[in-house]
Amino acid sequence: MADSSSAAECPVCGAQIQLAADAVKGELIECSDCGTELEIISIDPPQVHEAPQEEEDWGE
Ligand SMILES: [Zn+2]
Repeated sequence: MADSSSAAECPVCGAQIQLAADAVKGELIECSDCGTELEIISIDPPQVHEAPQEEEDWGE
C-alpha cells in the first residue's frame, strides 16, 4: 500500500488530486474536477482541505 500514491483527495468531490513535485504545505491549489480552492495541509501523506473563503467585508 506504500506505493507512490502522492495524491490527495478532494474533500468536496472526492477526486484524486496530484500534488506538484514542488508543492508546499499551505499552498493553495484548485481541484480540477469541481474547481474548489483547496489548501495543502500535508505533503506526506498528501492531504488537502477546503480553503477558507476570503471575505471582503473587512471592518464592519
Ligand atoms: Zn473537487
